[in-house]
Amino acid sequence: MFLKRLELSGFKSFADRVQVEFESGVTAVVGPNGSGKSNISDAVKWVLGEKSAKSLRGTKMEDVIFAGSEDRRPVQMAEITLVLNNEEKKLPIDYTEVAVTRRVFRSGESDYLINNHPCRLKDIIELFMDSGIGRESFSIIGQGRVEEILSTRAEERRAVIEEAAGVRKYQQRKLQSEKKLTDTEENLSRVKDILHELS
Ligand code: ATP
Repeated sequence: MFLKRLELSGFKSFADRVQVEFESGVTAVVGPNGSGKSNISDAVKWVLGEKSAKSLRGTKMEDVIFAGSEDRRPVQMAEITLVLNNEEKKLPIDYTEVAVTRRVFRSGESDYLINNHPCRLKDIIELFMDSGIGRESFSIIGQGRVEEILSTRAEERRAVIEEAAGVRKYQQRKLQSEKKLTDTEENLSRVKDILHELS
């Protein structure tokens, strides 16, 4: 599996629609300071479901939308599409090419699509979970991340290892199931109270 293409529009410094093609092998993005190199990796993180504006070097999610420049007005929407080659079926989906799209509007509305079909953010996160390229994964190592991982607390290091080992998905499902169980127990207890009052 490899990243084939990234399409950016209205995202950070990319006001116009820009298409970046990647060949298999190594690609280096070069450019002067402030020309938007890190914005490309932010775009990848964002389309994979990043929810923290801080980790995208902003303060609120709206900061990912092109905010205007001296000669350009701000735009109303940011859109990123990431296209992956899935011929080896590393992603659990029956397509040889997978296109994931995320859009956000200034109004706060957002859309998520997998191969042009609307979906939920949860579906995107699940699709990439354990693939090694999720939003929390190690395929994107930002400046300072190496030191962060080395110096972080033992529990956080354990979480890093668990993500790499692919057990995070099951932990999340366990948490969701436990929550459902608690909700059901609460409902049962309420029903018992009502029955008690009626008898
Ligand atoms: P360096 O080599 O210094 O790390 P870089 O090439 O990685 O730089 P980026 O950090 O990707 O550069 O891009 C920074 C540029 O993106 C700045 O000029 C900043 O003004 C611009 N930028 C960021 N967010 C927006 C936005 N929402 N609207 C318009 N421009 C933006």
